[in-house]
Amino acid sequence: MNADDLIVQESAYEGLTAWGEKLPHALLLHGPKGIGKLQLAEHFARFLLCEGRGAALQPCGRCEGCRWVRAGSHPDLRLVEPEAMARQTPAEDAEPDAEGAGRSKKKPSIEIRIEQVRQLDDFIHMGSHRAGRRVAIVHPAEDMNAPTANALLKNLEEPPPGAVFILVSHRPARLLPTVRSRCVQLPLAAPNADAAARWLDSRGVKDAARWLAFAGGAPMRAAELATDARGERIGRWRESLDQGAPGGIEAGSDREELELLVDVLQKYAFDRALESFGLMSKYRSTAAKGQPVSPQAWLAYARALGRERLLARHPLNPKLFAETLLRDFPGTLHS
Ligand SMILES: [Zn+2]
Repeated sequence: MNADDLIVQESAYEGLTAWGEKLPHALLLHGPKGIGKLQLAEHFARFLLCEGRGAALQPCGRCEGCRWVRAGSHPDLRLVEPEAMARQTPAEDAEPDAEGAGRSKKKPSIEIRIEQVRQLDDFIHMGSHRAGRRVAIVHPAEDMNAPTANALLKNLEEPPPGAVFILVSHRPARLLPTVRSRCVQLPLAAPNADAAARWLDSRGVKDAARWLAFAGGAPMRAAELATDARGERIGRWRESLDQGAPGGIEAGSDREELELLVDVLQKYAFDRALESFGLMSKYRSTAAKGQPVSPQAWLAYARALGRERLLARHPLNPKLFAETLLRDFPGTLHS
């Protein structure tokens, strides 16, 4: 088995492979963000499109089907995502679309566009290029507005043989009920800590258990945080908090950074409250012993941050917003 085959949702994957020929034509994988739903969908697509696995439960990784999937160019696989999050650049993106050349200057859409779903019509009905299945992954499915979802619905209602839709959703309640009801739903929870830690290790994430705790058990989120610039930033912030010196924290002014700051402060306060009660911290966000502060003060601060969370998305004055959050930090060391 190569490293790409290590997936965090192992048991759910086994469940999917067990469908065999009875596989429903539309699946809805849903659950919290960052727990490996998309990875599961993509790995299962590889399984379905593998031409050399025989009776094995893993894609062989060597056949032409597997190689094309890995290269992101399998003709019988489509990943439909909002432009803003697309990692692959499928060939059709290069084609001029109906709305003309002006589109290229627009900001990438944060929604799945109706054109993307309409392009699935041809894809699904054209017949397989490799005499196997055709797989369309829609992620995240809640990023479709009603007309787009209705366009998809047509395909979900009358799929040609061999077509498989895999919808991935963090918020299934936001899907049209008619879309939900056409799919066999597969609710997913965070994977067990061992599977998550193994996967994080395989990605070279240091301090995996700690990041996993901070990410609330969601390994994809943990890997993201630990390996990009945010990881280092969070580390520095925690150090300042441990030293009772929140004034040393410089949060930038963009929305994401503010949201991250609120998240870090809230988890930190919650962990300190637990520690003051003599309990294990939940998010493992503290290192050194901080200032003596009552658990009530920590909890009050964590609650206040819960309210600020929404404001962090649209602060009137980002700099002032961050300063106010940090000013109220209960563990400040006053000299
Ligand atoms: Zn293969």
